[in-house]
Amino acid sequence: MRKVIVLLSGGMDSATLLWLAKKEFDKVWAISFNYGQRHSVELKYAKRLAQKAGVEDHIIVDIPLYKSIKGSALIDENVDVPEGEYPQDEPPITTVPMRNLNFIAMACAFADSLEIDTVGIGVHALDTPYPDCRPEFISAVEAAVNAGSILVAKKKIRFNIWAPFLGMTKRQIALLGKDLGVPFEDTYSCYKGVEPPCGVCPTCIQRKEALEGII
Ligand SMILES: [Zn+2]
Repeated sequence: MRKVIVLLSGGMDSATLLWLAKKEFDKVWAISFNYGQRHSVELKYAKRLAQKAGVEDHIIVDIPLYKSIKGSALIDENVDVPEGEYPQDEPPITTVPMRNLNFIAMACAFADSLEIDTVGIGVHALDTPYPDCRPEFISAVEAAVNAGSILVAKKKIRFNIWAPFLGMTKRQIALLGKDLGVPFEDTYSCYKGVEPPCGVCPTCIQRKEALEGII
């Protein structure tokens, strides 16, 4: 039986990953994180998506660590959320230090305890300004998990970090999501955390471009 835990933010990429997981796996769990993000309203959308997807369980983890970390526009109220497009190469001000390392480690802790050998993450080709969304990070963290997993040690299996969107643009993800029947109206990603979304922050701009003509 194929089992997976999907990292679910409530945005269009992780929602599409969740719907793809339903197609490709027998049993699907979702995990979301409350890390003090300015846009914690996304958790409301994540809950609704998990419910609609009919997951085995939707795990929500509190991470108080990021209360102590300064300098990221997503978690530090003294840093403004930028407007306009992402910078091309360097990590944006919206980078949360080691976020995906923490998220994947925590998801893998649940995976080990539930005997699940795959964790899914919706990073994609336009995420590369973020260091912890790059293919080399995903490969490295997969190697670390394989070295540290109880499940791997006991059952002599291989643990997978499933990141099927690594080579895809957000537009390609949107088209895939449309085919899979993802309820994009239930997804959310605005960094400002306002409802309706601001429309001018980097993630609002990317989302609008990707979903044009789809919703
Ligand atoms: Zn926005």
